[in-house]
Amino acid sequence: ALQASKLHKAFNNVEVLGSVNLSINSGEVVSVIGPSGSGKTTLIRLMNGLEQLDNGEIHLNGQSFLKLLRHGPDKTKFVEQSSLRRNIGMVFQSFNLFPHLTVLENLMLAPRYHKMGSRKELEMQAFQLLNKVGMLEHVWKYPHQLSGGQQQRVAIARALMMRPQIMLFDEPTSALDPEKVNEVLQVIEDLAQEGITMVIVTHEMNFAFKVSDRVVFMEQGRIVCDDAPAVLREGNNPRIEAFLKDVS
Ligand code: ATP
Repeated sequence: ALQASKLHKAFNNVEVLGSVNLSINSGEVVSVIGPSGSGKTTLIRLMNGLEQLDNGEIHLNGQSFLKLLRHGPDKTKFVEQSSLRRNIGMVFQSFNLFPHLTVLENLMLAPRYHKMGSRKELEMQAFQLLNKVGMLEHVWKYPHQLSGGQQQRVAIARALMMRPQIMLFDEPTSALDPEKVNEVLQVIEDLAQEGITMVIVTHEMNFAFKVSDRVVFMEQGRIVCDDAPAVLREGNNPRIEAFLKDVS
């Protein structure tokens, strides 16, 4: 469904990604792991258009996505691109809920703006999603009245409101107190079991190896290995072995 080819990105002339290729098929769950600074977050932000590519291309269902966005003076093309971008849901490390909106309003904002249904239909969908992430009883609260784990579960429901074809998670549990990590991982695991296509940047190794169809290991801006969890675990790559030993 999503295909990234030869992605290059530098910040201040320092190469952060060097020719990264990554394909995500429909229904796949792919985790991206690797040392701090290896480019995981940059990769996922490029895939959602939050950073500009220096070079390379990203296709969503065969349609060029980010390359045109970058060059996009042509208005019609730009409209087409932003409609493609809507198909990609994003969950951030720091939740990024709108602080002045209730939980329900946070969920309703984008789909209302994009006229994805009547208010009633969208409210029904919001209630269903909040129920799914265990947050239905908090529907009228504001973000500051919720724990980090609860805010992240709302953020996941909010991303799902747009009925994305693919969900990107950028270290979704890194900002959480340790005792809140599992409630968020459980929600993501439930989504994985539903067959939702996902890319998850994470430092939670056990989780990554448990839920993923493929695990991508990055180092110094390159993909060193992209394979089934069992293959990575077999440990014939000393760098991966050292990394896993280090974080466990
Ligand atoms: P971590 O696991 O610590 O989050 P990461 O693998 O996600 O790391 P990135 O956040 O993608 O790594 O960062 C890769 C490199 O790019 C780092 O050296 C980082 O300092 C640098 N970098 C990232 N964003 C920017 C930016 N906006 N400006 C300058 N440098 C940046």
